[in-house]
Amino acid sequence: MFPILESAEIERVRRFGKVRAYRAGEALATVGEVGLGLTVILAGKVDITQHDESGRRTPIVTHVAGAFMGELAQLAGRPALVDAHAQGAVEALSIPPDRLRALLIAEAELGERIMRALILRRVGLIETGAGGPVIVGRAGNGDVLRLAGFLRRNGHPHQTLDPETDAEARALIDRFHVDAGQLPIVLCPDGQLLRNPSEIELARCIRLVGPIDPDRIYDVAIVGAGPAGLAAAVYAGSEGLSVLVLDCRAFGGQAGASARIENYLGFPTGISGMALMARAYNQAQKFGVEMAIPDEAIGLDADPHQGCFVLKLSNNERASARSVVIASGARYRRLAVDGLESFEGASVHYWASPLEAKLCAGQEVALVGAGNSAGQAAVYLASQAAKVWLVVRGADLAASMSRYLVDRIAGLANVEVLTQTSVTGLEGRDGVLEAIRWRSGASGEDVRRPMQHLFLFIGAEPNTDWLAGSGVALDRKGFVLTGADTTEERRPLETSRRGVFAIGDVRAGSMKRVAASVGEGAQVVATLHAVLAATGREPPAGASQQGPLRRQ
Ligand SMILES: Cc1cc2nc3c(=O)[nH]c(=O)nc-3n(C[C@H](O)[C@H](O)[C@H](O)COP(=O)(O)OP(=O)(O)OC[C@H]3O[C@@H](n4cnc5c(N)ncnc54)[C@H](O)[C@@H]3O)c2cc1C
Repeated sequence: MFPILESAEIERVRRFGKVRAYRAGEALATVGEVGLGLTVILAGKVDITQHDESGRRTPIVTHVAGAFMGELAQLAGRPALVDAHAQGAVEALSIPPDRLRALLIAEAELGERIMRALILRRVGLIETGAGGPVIVGRAGNGDVLRLAGFLRRNGHPHQTLDPETDAEARALIDRFHVDAGQLPIVLCPDGQLLRNPSEIELARCIRLVGPIDPDRIYDVAIVGAGPAGLAAAVYAGSEGLSVLVLDCRAFGGQAGASARIENYLGFPTGISGMALMARAYNQAQKFGVEMAIPDEAIGLDADPHQGCFVLKLSNNERASARSVVIASGARYRRLAVDGLESFEGASVHYWASPLEAKLCAGQEVALVGAGNSAGQAAVYLASQAAKVWLVVRGADLAASMSRYLVDRIAGLANVEVLTQTSVTGLEGRDGVLEAIRWRSGASGEDVRRPMQHLFLFIGAEPNTDWLAGSGVALDRKGFVLTGADTTEERRPLETSRRGVFAIGDVRAGSMKRVAASVGEGAQVVATLHAVLAATGREPPAGASQQGPLRRQ
């Protein structure tokens, strides 16, 4: 986490930065403020500390000559998550984000060590919650879960304090004169207080997302930061294209919800979807890809004067690009049962991450679904819950689930599979479930079981509502048609609209797997070069000249 650079290495990185001098006690970085980038200490010592909401300071590390300070925030020019102060006189080399990205690419071996340290430091900060916002509210409250889930999925440190068990939370509530009905509150690192904010308000406050430059025309705008969108971003970014990625929720898409992906090439022991996607997200940023998360595309238009596409965003902003990649994937289906919505948040879940697993530790839970995503979630939850009732509409789990998962479930004593069974009712109060009712089609028996948590993994529908009126042709089920399926002369992965592409789960006929989505993300970039060349855009230096699609 804290490597020391050799003097020869420092000499090599000098060309990427600017030397600055600091007096004793002077701040080199302040939590909540955008700093100067990665800082290599040339002489002197720098104390890195974190502080809690009461201002108490905890030392993290003291950097000496040859060490460098920074973590992932410095790669994207985001606000610092720690404080840094010069112990005595300090001389340091500041490397701004764009030069840091150039360094990581130009200096492969050194770049790898630096990148590894930046990632490990972020992981450390996430574990302690240091430098991030503090959410104050009851542990099982739906809005607390919503905000904590949003920050967790975006890999941002945060803490949650429950006023029922934490004296500091009560002190904060008193200090800011907050009524119980206004909880949760969020205290941002710059001192701003938000009362039960939306995810976008929170993201703006911690500067996870900023305004999009309305005058900039990107080479490609990618809608969706799931595996398909991130793969396209990594390949396009690495080939020198200017790339903007938008996602209305978090990076990772559906794959981010997968407790363990076991069929992705190169990971024989499996990998959690979040871990795989976080790597891709960091990799894309290394190649200079701009991320706008959360930002939702609500329409696609063209600007004939500028000769580009325009994405209309839900916050009234616009993003312009010479080409567009639709990677908006699919969204979970909801169960048709009365009152479902009132329990979403605290009791009905569409993810089975450590956050949800902690909530239902030692309890009985019900899980509806028979696909691989349901199987993975059942196996994962069984490790924490007292019992998992797996509710399946069909007669046989093996008809829709991979054999390895069926076998694994069969070997778990605390998972009971209920075939030919449907959930018929939900009971509870104030958004918290108290019981679930189901009916067995085989025996006709009605069962009512006290339970607080219901997990739904019942398939997905394409996220294509936002394409209404855009001229992009869809199939009967709403998936995007591409290539020959559009009945027009189009390149592979190109939609009925020239210059607009679709990849991953949103595309009609796609495989609906992580690896397939990643493959399409890589493939589309070759075609993009051909489209950009047709608009008069010079191929960027280093763009791949190979591959059959490149020559189209
Ligand atoms: C729980 C679970 C477990 C799974 N396990 C596996 C597995 O083990 N192996 C495997 O191969 N596959 C697995 N899958 C399937 C796999 O995750 C998907 O095939 C894959 O994620 C599809 O990738 P994608 O990028 O096309 O779309 P998605 O992953 O759906 O990503 C689309 C992204 O677009 C964003 N978006 C949507 N609309 C908009 C808009 N209008 N504006 C901005 N952003 C928007 C969404 O927020 C989302 O982040 C699993 C799926 C689930 C749900």
